[in-house]
Amino acid sequence: MKRISFLNGNFINHAEAYIHIEDRGMQFADGVYEVILFYKSQLIDNEWHLERLFRSLNEMDIKLPYTYEELSNIMMNLCQQNNLENASVYIQVTRGVTNRNQLIPEGINPTLIVTVSPLTITTPDDLINGYSAITLEDIRWQRCDIKSISLIASSLSKQKAVDLGYSEAIFVRNNTVTECSFSNLFMVDNNDNLVTKNLDNHVLAGITRKRVIELAKAAGITVIEKPFTPDELIAAKEVFATSTTLLIRPLTKINETIIGTGKCGSITTKLIKSYQQFLNNID
Ligand code: PMP
Repeated sequence: MKRISFLNGNFINHAEAYIHIEDRGMQFADGVYEVILFYKSQLIDNEWHLERLFRSLNEMDIKLPYTYEELSNIMMNLCQQNNLENASVYIQVTRGVTNRNQLIPEGINPTLIVTVSPLTITTPDDLINGYSAITLEDIRWQRCDIKSISLIASSLSKQKAVDLGYSEAIFVRNNTVTECSFSNLFMVDNNDNLVTKNLDNHVLAGITRKRVIELAKAAGITVIEKPFTPDELIAAKEVFATSTTLLIRPLTKINETIIGTGKCGSITTKLIKSYQQFLNNID
């Protein structure tokens, strides 16, 4: 079956989906993106993702002439055309095509790309042993709240983590743990509080983060959003990362330290199950 993607108003053969060499996305990483979970033929937390997309666009002063409804229809349509029931949907908007210029020209049309890829959801049984992570200096820019396509600092850091034998890179800026290279980070402290970095310009306001906070509160878990240090992280009972494609990923080894029992902890397991239930209750 041919893979279909969406480019600037058209559903086309993925293999023939090209953009111009002078797209500012390519030359200046001048664009933003979203990744949305499509599960059992539904777009999960779609409204929150679209709100964040338009916030990122607004911060970059890029005007995308599409409504939420039009974008949602494109995504649904694309999943159907690719015969997918579970998928990750990728939306990218760049400022568009113009002569290469350091200054930002007025009146160019943004480039809109939507692609879909099959996604397998991990189950609690797959996650029992958890994953490892290494703390690295946060070398990204000062606007991590924008979901920018300029991901090279994150990509190099994740590669460094993997080259050193770890699965994830955890960023640290001025002795504060911010987030992972492509996910948010939570820890369970000694009082069984769920702690995650408060939102500011050094972290992305993750949609899974927001959903997990809601699910945790509904389960009676106290959630604290505040800065914390790498030492506090390593002393935690449980640690996990969240993102649209990972969902909730237990981290059971950080640097040389085993976290808790070295297995996925009880609060993390509870949240993985609540998230699964949340997905199964959507219709
Ligand atoms: N932080 C960063 C830096 C990310 O790249 C991502 C995923 N794109 C997240 C957090 C998680 O965001 P979400 O839950 O919306 O996927």
